[in-house]
Amino acid sequence: MKTGHINVQTENIFPIIKKFLYSDHEIFLRELVSNAVDASQKLKVLAKSAEYDKEIGDLKVEVILNKEEKTLTIRDYGIGMTAEEIDKYINQIAFSGAEEFVQKYKDSDNKESIIGHFGLGFYSAFMVADNVEIRTLARYDDAQAVQWSSDGTTEYKIEEIEKEKRGTDIVLHITEESKEFLDENRISGILNKYCKFLPIPVIFGTTTEQKDDPSGEKDEEGNVKKVSNEIPNQINNTKPAWTVTPAELKNEDYSNFYRELYPMSFDEPLFHIHLNVDYPFNLTGILYFPKIKENVEVQKNKIQLYSNQVFITDNVEEIVPEFLTLLHGVIDSPDIPLNVSRSYLQSDSSVKKISSHITKKVADKLKQMFNQDRKDFENKWEDLRVFVEYGTLSDDKFADKSKDFTLVKNTEGKFYTLDEFTEKVKPTQTDKDGKTVFLYTSSAEEQFSFVKAAKDRGYEVLEIQGPLASHWIQKMETSLDNVSFARVDADTLDKLINKDEDIPSKLSEEEQKKIQPVFEEILDKDKFKIQFESMSETEAPIVLTQPEFIRRMKEQQQLGGAGFMGAFPETYNMVVNSNHPKISDLLNTKKKGDQAKKAKQLTDLALLSQGMLKGEALTEFVNRSIELV
Ligand code: ADP
Repeated sequence: MKTGHINVQTENIFPIIKKFLYSDHEIFLRELVSNAVDASQKLKVLAKSAEYDKEIGDLKVEVILNKEEKTLTIRDYGIGMTAEEIDKYINQIAFSGAEEFVQKYKDSDNKESIIGHFGLGFYSAFMVADNVEIRTLARYDDAQAVQWSSDGTTEYKIEEIEKEKRGTDIVLHITEESKEFLDENRISGILNKYCKFLPIPVIFGTTTEQKDDPSGEKDEEGNVKKVSNEIPNQINNTKPAWTVTPAELKNEDYSNFYRELYPMSFDEPLFHIHLNVDYPFNLTGILYFPKIKENVEVQKNKIQLYSNQVFITDNVEEIVPEFLTLLHGVIDSPDIPLNVSRSYLQSDSSVKKISSHITKKVADKLKQMFNQDRKDFENKWEDLRVFVEYGTLSDDKFADKSKDFTLVKNTEGKFYTLDEFTEKVKPTQTDKDGKTVFLYTSSAEEQFSFVKAAKDRGYEVLEIQGPLASHWIQKMETSLDNVSFARVDADTLDKLINKDEDIPSKLSEEEQKKIQPVFEEILDKDKFKIQFESMSETEAPIVLTQPEFIRRMKEQQQLGGAGFMGAFPETYNMVVNSNHPKISDLLNTKKKGDQAKKAKQLTDLALLSQGMLKGEALTEFVNRSIELV
C-alpha cells in the first residue's frame, strides 16, 4: 500500500470544487458516466489500432445504486488504469489524460467520440461524496488491479486488490447532505437528462436489498448465498439520428427522433435540417422547424446542445442567434467551450462561426424548398412567416438571403415574391414622386370598405398581419428601392397613392368653413381632426383614417422596445368628402336641429364602418335610424 498527496496548487481545492465550481451538483454523474464512456471508447480505438488484441466484449456502463450502503457506483469495462496511470491522471489534477490520448490517436476516426474535456471531471465526485474509491483493472496482460481511495482531503491511499474484470468501478459514498442522490428517481432523472444519447449503453440498476439465492446455493461457510435484487434498465439510445448520415435516414426516422426528443409534443414539425460539418469546426445535429404559434416566447429553448452525445444544456441563447431559438432539435459540437461563462461564449470565435453557419444553412434550406416546390412552400408560408420576419429583422445576413423567398399574399390569396409584386404594381401604384406604394390590410374584413375602394380602382391589396408586421414593414421600406407601405385605412386613396390628379372641389373654401363647426360640435376634437378633401362622388361622404405613422408607432409601442415615454395618443383624421351630394345637402339644410342630426348620422356611419361605434352611441344611432324609417 502507498499513500501520498494529490498534486494540486492549493490545499483548498476541494471546498472550491464542492461549492463553487459547479452550482449544479447533479453534473457529477454526467462527468463520471462520460469518463466511463470514454474509457470504453478508448478500448475500441485500441482494438482497431491492434494495440489491444483480446476480446473487448460487451461494452456498457452500469450505474448501481445501493441504498443500504449509501453508495453509487459507476462501472465500466473500458481500458482501466494501472497504479502509475492513476498517479498520472488522477493524482495530478491539472494533467488530463484525455488530452494526451487525443493527441496520440489524433488520426484515428474515433477520436471525436472521446468526451473528456470537461476539465475537473472526476473530482466533481467530491461534490456529493465524502469518500471515493476507484477500483480498476487495466487492459494489459499481467495488470494488477488497484484501488485508490480518498476522503476528500488531498490525501489518498492506493492498494492492490482482487478484481476479475477489466475496467473501472468508481464508488461514491454519498454524504448525508447529498442524500437526494440515493433516490432512484432522482438518479434516473439525471441519467435521462444527460445520458440519453451516449454512444455506449448506460444501464441503471438498484441494489435495494440482499435476499437469499432462490437456488438455495451455499457459500463456503454453509450459509445460503445472497443475491441482490437489481432492476436494470437501459437509459440511452446509442445511435441517435443526428449521428447517422442523412442518406441512411428516411423522413419517418426524422419524425420518430422528433418524438424521442419531445415526447409531449403532438405537432409534426414542418421540415428538418440535418447539420453535418467537419471543417473548420465540428458540428452535427438536426434542427426541426415547428409550426410557430402566435406566442413566440413559449416556443423558445427547445434546442438541446450536446458535446459528443453528452447533453450539456437546453439554453442555447448565446450559441445560436436569437431568432433560431425558435427552432427545435439537437446541436452537437465538441468545439463549443463548455466551462466558460455565457458572456464569453458570445465572443468566442468558433461559437460565432457555428452560429453563422447555422443561419446560412437555415436560409439555404428555405431557399431550396422555395425553388424545389413553390406550391408546397406557399402552403407552409403562414407557419414560416413569423420566423422569416424575425430572422430578417434580427440578422442582416439572413435578411440578405430571405429576400429571395419572402412571400407576400394579396387579398385573393395569391402569393408573390417581393420582386414579383413590385413588378406587378409598379405601373399602377407609383405616385407622383416615383414611389411604388404597397397597399395592405391587417384584416380584410374589418377594413372591408377600404379594401374594396382600393380594388375598385384596380389596386392590389396585401394581407399583412402579426406581431412583427410593423417592424418588418419598416425594414422592407429601407431595403427595397423606392417602395413604401401604406395600410388601406391610413388615408384616402388619392392621398395614399398621390398621383397629383386633382379633382375640383364642389364646395368653396368658404362653404367648407361653414360646415366645419357643425362636425366639431359633435366630435371629440382631441381625437378627431376634421379635414376636407375633394374625392370622387362615389366615395363615402365621410371617411375616418389613422395616419400610417401614428398607427405604426402605437403597434411598436405595444410590442415593447420602441422606447416611448407614456402612451401614444389615439388620433384619427375625419375626412369630409367635399364632392359628395350629402355634404352639399348639409350645407343647404337651414334648420339647425336638422343639420346637426344629419351630420351626426353621417359621422356615425363612418364610425360604424370602422367598427368604432360602440355602447351608448351605437344604441342612439340605432334608435335614430329606426325613426328615419
Ligand atoms: P478529463 O476526463 O477531463 O480528462 P477527469 O478528471 O475526469 O478529466 O479524468 C482524468 C483522467 O483520468 C481521464 O482523462 C482518464 O485518463 C482517467 N480516467 C478517469 N476515469 C476513468 C475511467 N473510468 N477509466 C479509465 N480512465 C479514467
